[in-house]
Amino acid sequence: MHVDDLVTPALLVERGALRRNLDTMSAALPGTRLRPHVKAHKCTSLARWQRDNGHPGFTCATIRECEVMVEHGLGGDLLLANEVVDASRLGALVRNGARITLAVDSRETIAAALRGNVLEVVIDVNVGLPRCGCPPEKAGELAELARRNGLEVRGVMGYEGHLMMVRPEEDQRRMVRESMEKLVAAAREVGGELVSAGGTGTYRLNEWATEIQAGSYALMDSAYAELGHPFEQALFVLGTVISVSADHAVVDVGLKALGMDHGNPTIPGAQVWFCSDEHTTFAPGALKLRVGDRIRVVPAHVDPTVAYHEAMWLVDGEQVAERWAVDMRGW
Ligand code: PLP
Ligand code: MN
Repeated sequence: MHVDDLVTPALLVERGALRRNLDTMSAALPGTRLRPHVKAHKCTSLARWQRDNGHPGFTCATIRECEVMVEHGLGGDLLLANEVVDASRLGALVRNGARITLAVDSRETIAAALRGNVLEVVIDVNVGLPRCGCPPEKAGELAELARRNGLEVRGVMGYEGHLMMVRPEEDQRRMVRESMEKLVAAAREVGGELVSAGGTGTYRLNEWATEIQAGSYALMDSAYAELGHPFEQALFVLGTVISVSADHAVVDVGLKALGMDHGNPTIPGAQVWFCSDEHTTFAPGALKLRVGDRIRVVPAHVDPTVAYHEAMWLVDGEQVAERWAVDMRGW
């Protein structure tokens, strides 16, 4: 199939770029040093490539992601790096032989793990991002509560998400160190072998984590590309030009096909003006566009963009190689 045969908007993944991104990261963080985060692609076919690159364990953000990973034989060591108050669906996976480790940060979430018959947890520590995670000084006490009730505590996690985009890099390095010192102090109190943290923005300089939870590196987006990482843009949203005026053109890729929280998408060679539901309006610059032309739009934020689509098309340039379902969507 040729890309012109696809219904637009369509998610394209350049196979060569994806391959190189995975290999670059696996060389930097081999084996269990990387616990790829599947929320960035929500695609078990892609996760299988990551596993085949030597990474046996994965990070998930939702119960649904865990379920679908297990369904596809990828449930050997899943970390649900998120709090839940009903863990019964996870317990069902564990009973059927999956290994699921659940993040907990309160008495309530420990109680949920117990009620749901999850066997293993990590203590989630707030390392500066005001989201989930207990205060570092509470981690030891929560670990003790969990162990007293029979849970296996594998260690700690602490996501320094507020530091992914910090520049210059020496400021980022200092802030990551300060943030990870909190996690390491908590790990000393908690015990266990896991210190799970990090993402695409900090994988190079987070030397305190035993494993890095990076996800965006596989497909990439324009926000991360600006930071100068060694990963290529592998993800595009293919669109059809539906209107051309004297000073602008319109492509049928709108904010219902794009995660917009990191800003407007980019169109190489053109200047994006704004997005509406089903349109992106742009000044085409030197591009000589006609109605019906196909163009590639580069999303600013990979995770929510992928989650809007049912499938991604693996391509080699104009040639479509395979359809990969975005099979971990939904809740
Ligand atoms: N770990 C957690 C808990 C996250 O929420 C995220 C992303 O938001 C990541 C890791 C991976 O991040 P990245 O997109 O930088 O690869
Ligand atoms: Mn993201």
